[in-house]
Amino acid sequence: MSERHRYRARYVIPVDRPPLENATLEIEGERIVAIHDHHDPRAIDLGNVALIPGLVNAHVHLEFSDLDTPIVPPQPFTQWLRGVMHSRSSRTASIEETLKRGIREVITQGTAVIGEVATHGWSAQAVADENTTVSPLHIVAFRELLTLSQDRIPAQLNVLEQHLHDCKSFASIRSAVSPHAPYSVHPELFSAAVNTAKQDNLPLAIHLAETSAELELMRTGTGEFREFLGELGVWQDDVFESPRTPLDYLKAMSELDRGLIIHGNYLTETDIQYLAAHQNLTVIYCPRTHAYFGHSPHPWKRLLNDSVAVALGTDGRSSNPNLSVWEELRFLYIHHPDVPPATILQLGTINGAKALGIERDYGTITPGKKASIAVIELPKETTRSPEALLFDPVSRMRGMLSSYAS
Ligand SMILES: [Zn+2]
Repeated sequence: MSERHRYRARYVIPVDRPPLENATLEIEGERIVAIHDHHDPRAIDLGNVALIPGLVNAHVHLEFSDLDTPIVPPQPFTQWLRGVMHSRSSRTASIEETLKRGIREVITQGTAVIGEVATHGWSAQAVADENTTVSPLHIVAFRELLTLSQDRIPAQLNVLEQHLHDCKSFASIRSAVSPHAPYSVHPELFSAAVNTAKQDNLPLAIHLAETSAELELMRTGTGEFREFLGELGVWQDDVFESPRTPLDYLKAMSELDRGLIIHGNYLTETDIQYLAAHQNLTVIYCPRTHAYFGHSPHPWKRLLNDSVAVALGTDGRSSNPNLSVWEELRFLYIHHPDVPPATILQLGTINGAKALGIERDYGTITPGKKASIAVIELPKETTRSPEALLFDPVSRMRGMLSSYAS
């Protein structure tokens, strides 16, 4: 039988029920056994801290984890994409080293789960090697698929098959698929990805309604993307012959177990109504990345009001100074005092777990779930709610309980 550990904290914030004060958390092996609303004398006293569910970063690109600052310029968007391509071709660190660096960063930021986008050179082995036994991170690895050329679709599907095979060897990695975006994926490749996801019960993610230029391209085959794709030599007349909308993609994803709409910055009223009726689809809002690009205000509050599922991602260091979901939550708390801090916390925990289809094990502090718990040091005051104290400027992220308390 595994050893039982008990920790006393000023607050335990389970997320699926109200916070408990002066509470004790009981863990056995890798699972939560119980939460008590009193100080068990056998418990290790962690002091003036809150225990919260390990954070869920539903969308990240670890391949850019070696960047100290985001890629410039953020606008026009296709210019930023040129910067991304340049950054890939001129990187000095190996992709393995960069992935490992990213893994270390997210763990120290109290992250339990990431929805990672796996691109060229991605290595399940490198990711698993860096993943510690102390605070094992759960990785949902979305294999990115990318081509507008019909001829290249079979090769992309082979890449996906290899990825599914490679991930099988690692308990901490679950495979998933991500046809990149409407401007970079042939509609038949998208359909094939949806079919594989349905068959194998994989989460599927797509960058959708990210820019107004993307919507223009889908509608009329014109605009900055037309020029950009032409310049790259990948433009295909037939792909953009007939108009499409984000709703066409949402409909295709409606029968998936889990579908992730990355960004959704420019979703229309019709899209929003459709999403409200499909709880298997989650919009992944990346707050600081959204701000970096200077988009029109994101509809996340509107989405929440209409009962659309919303979770958070950091995106990569290509558009964000770091990979901390904690800082995303704080960013929302500071800029949206009208939203209850308990709601903000859900976005970075249970909502992300549901988006990725792993809510049985992650997202709340509930007996039976994985003991992936983050520790936040709190200010001393007692007047505000525990959730509000979490996001106070004085509060400090101390990382995962397993590494903090050992
Ligand atoms: Zn992204």
